[in-house]
Amino acid sequence: MQLSLRGRSVLVLDKAQFGSGSTGQAAGLGGQLRSNPSETRLLMEGIKVVREMERKLNQKIFTKTGSLHVAATEDRALELRDFVKSGKAIGFEIELVDREFAKSRLPCMQTDDLIEFCYCATDGHFAPSELLSGYMRIARDAGATLLSDTLVEDILIEGGRVKGIQTADETFFAPVVVNAAGPWSYLVAELTQTPMATATLGHYYLVTEPISDVQIASTDAAIRDRANRIYSRPEMGGLLVGSYEQEPVEYSMEALPEDFQMSEIRIQRDNLNVALLIEAASQRFPFINERTPMSVTTGIMTFTPDGHALCGQVHDVEGLYHCTGFNGRGVFQSTSVGLLMANLICQERTGYQMGHLDADRFSDEPWLGDRESIRTRCRNRYANHYLIASKG
Ligand SMILES: Cc1cc2nc3c(=O)[nH]c(=O)nc-3n(C[C@H](O)[C@H](O)[C@H](O)COP(=O)(O)OP(=O)(O)OC[C@H]3O[C@@H](n4cnc5c(N)ncnc54)[C@H](O)[C@@H]3O)c2cc1C
Repeated sequence: MQLSLRGRSVLVLDKAQFGSGSTGQAAGLGGQLRSNPSETRLLMEGIKVVREMERKLNQKIFTKTGSLHVAATEDRALELRDFVKSGKAIGFEIELVDREFAKSRLPCMQTDDLIEFCYCATDGHFAPSELLSGYMRIARDAGATLLSDTLVEDILIEGGRVKGIQTADETFFAPVVVNAAGPWSYLVAELTQTPMATATLGHYYLVTEPISDVQIASTDAAIRDRANRIYSRPEMGGLLVGSYEQEPVEYSMEALPEDFQMSEIRIQRDNLNVALLIEAASQRFPFINERTPMSVTTGIMTFTPDGHALCGQVHDVEGLYHCTGFNGRGVFQSTSVGLLMANLICQERTGYQMGHLDADRFSDEPWLGDRESIRTRCRNRYANHYLIASKG
């Protein structure tokens, strides 16, 4: 969308339907707070992008509910106080709040064990499909061509420069190619004999059906309870709760059948990770148990070893960019990463320090040629997603 709005000639290809990958499975949370202030600033910018899209499309895309972070121990409380200090320093709306306020924003939450709370008033959530169709409409109106059911089979490179891409029926020539193939990105990178430091991990969230004696309003706050490894937001009168478990299931994208549909991954209610998710959810929301009527959604996330995305040019192939590895946050990050990528590609100055997203930052690592080693690092990052955040 951002490149089309800058007058670039844009072609977007998807081997299946747009949104049929991770995006279609996402929980849609939009939390701006990151331990890296540049990233928080970029996400704050993303909210402005969405507001502008809503204005253009005359359609609501983002639901602002605010979000809570909670702590039950002194070290987690310290983490929240650090969040508030670093957020305020860059003008992000974040406050320490008391139990009564937190309870008023999310009445169905159990707070007896909690000692500290902070609140981010401008956070909220999206329906990922609405955000995606918004991007597509604006991009098309600005002249972009979008082709679904078109597999990129090869990336053409000549003399250290990208020349275009090859599909089964056609060659498309272009001075810039962006690999934004989500979980499949490492396979697309392999077309150019470049290993990519991503791994693809299963992730689950539950959505309870409305429960007669538990009031959940669509305006209730989202929450992150990092010690219990869970996040949550209201959904259709019920509660959506997801968890970053200790031992995620791993997928090899190359081993999946050709007609694989992410939306068709099914998981048994007695699966260990689902049992762990329900158990973690019940810690904060005691009305949730194995007998609660609920649906469970599964999808595949793309993780990197350090928890940051890979966004930028591949240094030894001019014109080839990666835009992937969003560590479970790519729907919301897309709002600002689109801006960042367009700035990079159009060689516009950006006011953001984004060195930590450099697409080539692992290129000197001795383990980069070893897929098993990459996978271990990414799995560890997933398992530690809600570890106490380091400052900076
Ligand atoms: C269960 C779950 C919950 C999540 N919750 C959240 C959340 O609350 N908030 C949030 O921000 N993020 C969330 N995420 C993460 C988010 O979904 C991803 O980060 C984001 O969707 C990544 O978008 P993408 O466009 O990079 O990848 P995808 O949406 O996977 O898109 C990649 C596309 O590339 C296409 N493709 C692949 N190979 C080729 C090829 N060779 N040629 C042509 N096309 C190809 C695929 O068909 C696919 O449509 C969640 C993810 C999951 C699985």
